Amino acid sequence: MKSSRAHAALRHWFAPARALVQWIYDSGCVICGRECMAALPICSICRRRLPLLGDPLCPVCNHFVPGRQPHRNCLGVEPWPSLLWFSGLFDDGYRPLIHALKYEHQQSIGEFFGRKTGRRLLKTFANCGHPPLIVPVPLHPSRERHRGYNQSAAIARGLARATGFPLAHDQLRRIRRTRDQTRLSPAQRIANVAKAFAVRHPGYFADRQVILVDDVLTTGATIKECTGILYADGAVEVQAMVIALARPIIKTAEKRGGSGDNSSALPQQPIGDAVGV
Ligand SMILES: [Zn+2]
Ligand SMILES: [Zn+2]
Repeated sequence: MKSSRAHAALRHWFAPARALVQWIYDSGCVICGRECMAALPICSICRRRLPLLGDPLCPVCNHFVPGRQPHRNCLGVEPWPSLLWFSGLFDDGYRPLIHALKYEHQQSIGEFFGRKTGRRLLKTFANCGHPPLIVPVPLHPSRERHRGYNQSAAIARGLARATGFPLAHDQLRRIRRTRDQTRLSPAQRIANVAKAFAVRHPGYFADRQVILVDDVLTTGATIKECTGILYADGAVEVQAMVIALARPIIKTAEKRGGSGDNSSALPQQPIGDAVGV
């Protein structure tokens, strides 16, 4: 009896400590399930194994752009971002990360990749007098209320923290509810997002560079629709950043102006070595 009272007392006194440990470790790695710190649910092993692609892509011809000089010949006909920054391929280990970010409230994943990309982007905008505006692709207010957060805003927060660039998160709005794009054909995706966005204060983006942020790019219908709105409002350049790409890329050296050396294709570095968490 005495012993059970002692145990109860111990349980009572250690309960807060146990709760704290559970809070810290309660979230397994979203890729492999190993125990890991809840602050970022990607274990150190998976972080090391996850392929991280270094250079931005031309979103029109799908070639890497190691020199970071947009392909002017590819642009101009349709409103694509001049460069597309991303960390990896959706089917190359990023699928569970995106799922956890979008549907399991794991906003820290978005912030993590935002910070990582931010460090790469800083070099590109080093000599830019007026810092670019960071703009997350908005959800419709009703969807954001239902989900409780906007996953693109989480990525944008990380990007803003790493770069110091201003976040303009309410200046682009989704004015019409759209269907989830996942099961739609390319043509349906374009129709789905047509006229779905608007700027809050016309002229807000005049003469500004913009970094448009989303979680995944597949056909690019959403990014392109938003880019068109930003250019129509006077933006001088729009670049885009997503975590993962769900479309094929051209795995060769840069299309033009490149060295022709294929070793520059798919420039990878282990994710854990690039940036600490
Ligand atoms: Zn893991
Ligand atoms: Zn191109």
